Amino acid sequence: MEEDNMTAGFEKKVALVTGAGGGIGEAVAHDLAMNGASVLVVDIHGPNAEVVAGAIRERGGKAVSFCADVSVSAQCRAAVEKAEREFGSLHYSVNNAGIGGRFDAITDIEVDEWRNVMSVNIDAVFLGMKYQLSAIEKSGGGAVVNIASIYAHLGLRRFDAYTASKHAVRGLTRSVAIEYATRNIRVNAVSPGPILTPLTRGAKEQIDTITAMTAMKRMGEPVEIAKAVSFLLSPDASFITGAEIVVDGGVMLS
Ligand code: NAD
Repeated sequence: MEEDNMTAGFEKKVALVTGAGGGIGEAVAHDLAMNGASVLVVDIHGPNAEVVAGAIRERGGKAVSFCADVSVSAQCRAAVEKAEREFGSLHYSVNNAGIGGRFDAITDIEVDEWRNVMSVNIDAVFLGMKYQLSAIEKSGGGAVVNIASIYAHLGLRRFDAYTASKHAVRGLTRSVAIEYATRNIRVNAVSPGPILTPLTRGAKEQIDTITAMTAMKRMGEPVEIAKAVSFLLSPDASFITGAEIVVDGGVMLS
């Protein structure tokens, strides 16, 4: 079934999106697929990934699901191999999977809790690129987008691991961008403000406060992040690397 609003842009291109079983990743996977990409929908919750891939196929797009914990090196490599096996190559990746962790005083954060947030939010971005970049280079080039946060810029009281991990995503994005700038792979970040997803529903009190701080006085929708990701991956962003688009309804303006 062909959908009316299917537009050109990523035809014959292959994209891998992590944490795509829901929230922002789901919207990113849909947007890339509706613009012609074949998408590997990766999530630690395999059934959720399959629901998203199935919905994309229902809309006339190309998508396959893959269950992987992206904090595990071998599973990141397996995801890249799956994309190549299913679709023949890899051109784009979006390292989006992330967790919030608990709000806690730094003196009370358990070491395991700290490591858990770090392993999903920053180790997985490193491990993702470690395997994705060679595959993308082999296919002739492409682009990567890593999902950071406004907390790659700001501090958030009692959210130390998350804040530290997102600052790290921004730094890693910039250093890798330099390395690949002459190798036909652009590496950028998108930093969302408060977006309505399952992640933020668990932190309503803090999100209400942040929402009040947005210049637009509203939360964003996942699709509003997806549009920025698709732009950065697309040839329209051909001179943009190591950059970051903040999509936050104006939180960081004041
Ligand atoms: P979400 O919880 O709605 O979705 C995250 C997805 O990642 C889930 O489907 C989950 O199953 C998957 N996931 C978690 N750990 C995984 C792992 N180890 N391996 C593979 N998949 C895993 O979250 P979201 O709000 O859509 O957030 C997506 C990204 O955007 C995260 O990196 C988050 O930090 C960032 N972000 C979100 C907001 C927001 O307001 N929602 C704001 C700033 C940044």
